[in-house]
Amino acid sequence: ETIPVITIDGPGGAGKGTVSRILAENLGWHLLDSGAIYRVLALAAIHHDFSAEDEESLVALAQNLDVKFEVEQEQQLTHIILEGEDVTMTIRTEEVGNMASKIAALPRVREALLRRQRAFRELPGLIADGRDMGTVVFPSAAVKVFLTASAEERAQRRYKQLLEKGFTAKIDQLIAEIEERDERDANRAVAPMKPAADALVLDSTNLAIDEVVDQILRFAHGKL
Ligand code: C5P
Repeated sequence: ETIPVITIDGPGGAGKGTVSRILAENLGWHLLDSGAIYRVLALAAIHHDFSAEDEESLVALAQNLDVKFEVEQEQQLTHIILEGEDVTMTIRTEEVGNMASKIAALPRVREALLRRQRAFRELPGLIADGRDMGTVVFPSAAVKVFLTASAEERAQRRYKQLLEKGFTAKIDQLIAEIEERDERDANRAVAPMKPAADALVLDSTNLAIDEVVDQILRFAHGKL
């Protein structure tokens, strides 16, 4: 109850991941990358050849998912291990992201992942990155942020990230996929992506990362 949480929600590519990592490092807090959990589940589903409509199988998979987050010193990199295999890189493809977004629309799959996500709330505090951190998973969080940016800007950032990670991509296709994913995440019946009523809504389109971090820390001041 008293363990402080800062939630950072918003669409992909708005800078949530980087901002969350910096906040966790600065404060010395734990970090939950909830999108990674949906991505690991998606990868496991692809491995098992499950369709995105097969809710029964996906719920069972979610309940038994053998995933570990191995945090390296200083949180520089968290290795994500699925059934003993390091999937840190393989979960970052657009194919896995799209599958994640499809299975994330299934209410019972989300339900099955709730406890796993809440278990990250440990002292001295948690930075929770996702779509429904402030609305569903940690509604009692003291500080809630909704971070957005234009689809074009997010596609450009995603494009750079993918290239840095050694993937290839087409910018037009990325914009189309981002818009399609936003549409699905924002319009699903359960836990749609939206700002919590008490969230600070920040548009990062024209902000540098450290300006975003500064604004969040200023907003959080006195609330924790
Ligand atoms: O943030 P990331 O791109 O890794 O998330 C992949 C997908 O997982 C999102 O498009 C979204 O559909 C789903 N997700 C979610 N709730 C979260 C985090 C991610 O539905 N809290």
